[in-house]
Amino acid sequence: MKKALGFLVIVSFMFLLIIHTTDEVSAEGSARSDSESDWEWPVIGELTDHFGTRGGNHYGVDIAAPSGSEVRVVEDGTVKKSYYSTSYGHVVFVRHVNGLETVYAHLSERLVPKGKQVKRGTIIGTVGNTGNSHGNHLHFEVHEGEWNAHKTKAVDPVVYFDQTLERVTVEAETIETASTMKSNKSEVTVQKGDTLWGIANEYGVTVDTIKEWNHLKTDLIVVGQTLNVLK
Ligand SMILES: [Zn+2]
Repeated sequence: MKKALGFLVIVSFMFLLIIHTTDEVSAEGSARSDSESDWEWPVIGELTDHFGTRGGNHYGVDIAAPSGSEVRVVEDGTVKKSYYSTSYGHVVFVRHVNGLETVYAHLSERLVPKGKQVKRGTIIGTVGNTGNSHGNHLHFEVHEGEWNAHKTKAVDPVVYFDQTLERVTVEAETIETASTMKSNKSEVTVQKGDTLWGIANEYGVTVDTIKEWNHLKTDLIVVGQTLNVLK
């Protein structure tokens, strides 16, 4: 009887040990997926058109920026295509480890060849107005799988920046309460369609200055967010 009890204790102990280990693994797993969704915004500019517009025929987002602005890869991957297309103009396709594909179109120049390994933040080209484009902008697409001509796997790219958006919001709130700014500071509330680039222009400063004032780590802002500015 004593022996059986001892055995039971050992079994239960092992069971607890297993549960504990599983917990740790899942905690690590979620931490990893957090960092995966922390994408780098491909270009500093003004969001001029959203996903799903033009009668559902716009399969990406448009970010207007001056010609020659650096275009960066949002996440590590491999260049799948780098060529000139009559519609996309100079375009770069990047395949990512998680099976996603991102597309960077209307570039003025492409700086990476097919097959090149790229890291999050690698400059793959510059903003332009090539192909079927009216004005300098980056047309950016995200596909949950391989790109196809009907773009059946295209998704709203904004979804992939959500985690970053949340983090920026939290940081902005923390800063508001711990603000050390002087009396000539004022606040702007981010409206729909606003970009850091646009707000910086309005106050005659650079995007980096606005980011510095608000301790922002990315170029993303969200509607309703309060930003500190100096007049
Ligand atoms: Zn577009």
